[in-house]
Amino acid sequence: MVLKLYRNQKLCQFLAVHLLLSLKNIIVSVKAKKHLGQHFLTDESIAKNIADALTGSDYNHVLEIGPGMGVLTKYLLQRKPKITAIELDRASVAYLNETFPLEHIKLDTSKNHFEVIEGDFLKKDIQEMFNKEQVAIIGNFPYNISTQIVFKAIEYREFVPEFAGMFQKEVAMRIAEKEGSKVYGILSVLTQAFFDVEYLFTVPPNVFNPPPKVDSGVIRFVRKENYTLPVDEKLFFRVVKTAFNQRRKMLRSSLKSFNLSDSLKEDPIFTKRPEQLSVESFISLTQKIADHGI
Ligand code: SAH
Repeated sequence: MVLKLYRNQKLCQFLAVHLLLSLKNIIVSVKAKKHLGQHFLTDESIAKNIADALTGSDYNHVLEIGPGMGVLTKYLLQRKPKITAIELDRASVAYLNETFPLEHIKLDTSKNHFEVIEGDFLKKDIQEMFNKEQVAIIGNFPYNISTQIVFKAIEYREFVPEFAGMFQKEVAMRIAEKEGSKVYGILSVLTQAFFDVEYLFTVPPNVFNPPPKVDSGVIRFVRKENYTLPVDEKLFFRVVKTAFNQRRKMLRSSLKSFNLSDSLKEDPIFTKRPEQLSVESFISLTQKIADHGI
């Protein structure tokens, strides 16, 4: 009898929560703003697949960039780690603060597991935000700043064991491609030097509101066990960037500013173009320049 009553109570609570949630969706939703790169994902199973792209268990924090109306957030909440979401759009923050208490009841998760911060991810110090603890980064990213987000994850690599998210397909490919590809460039080399990158799946425009003009791609990168390079890392970044700034030229001409000695220039690597060099070759190129150039 008691059990039955309890079940009925739970059922009523469940129905009330669902009713309120669907009403909320009708009453308030955030109007997409172009300047914030807002394209809201409307397909629940894709949202779940993106949230599931995170594999790790060796961290207690997940940072979601640009949660919007929380389509990914609700699936992230079902995972154990604490979720912090950072969102620039005040209307989205208000929406999340209003609707997520209901999600917590629905999912039986604790409020302490979730925090929304209003702000610009690019201006945040990840190290300070998470007290130097490890944090995985995820998001359906605003496409206008997606490469800056990756560069920031690389910069804070010591604290970022894993990263997953949705980009414009072309950017996702650029990050994941290997040498020899036309889109292989600075972003590919710098990411792959520290992370193992995997292109997971493509997402068509029609599952967004409003639909973007191009396909999107979901990728994951997991930090390498040994992510310290055997060369001067600052010099490595400079070599990669300088080489790709003139990607059609041979390295002996694009890297002139490194004052390469004549004997060094005779090394066959300098007759190559940057897109022919693997990450390992860039590392050995940096070593050669450190030993004989500059
Ligand atoms: N994750 C949501 C929204 C994706 S749109 C979904 O999948 O539906 C990208 C989101 O990033 C928008 O909500 C936008 O407001 C937010 N955003 C844009 N620039 C940002 C920045 N610099 N820092 C944090 N969030 C940002």
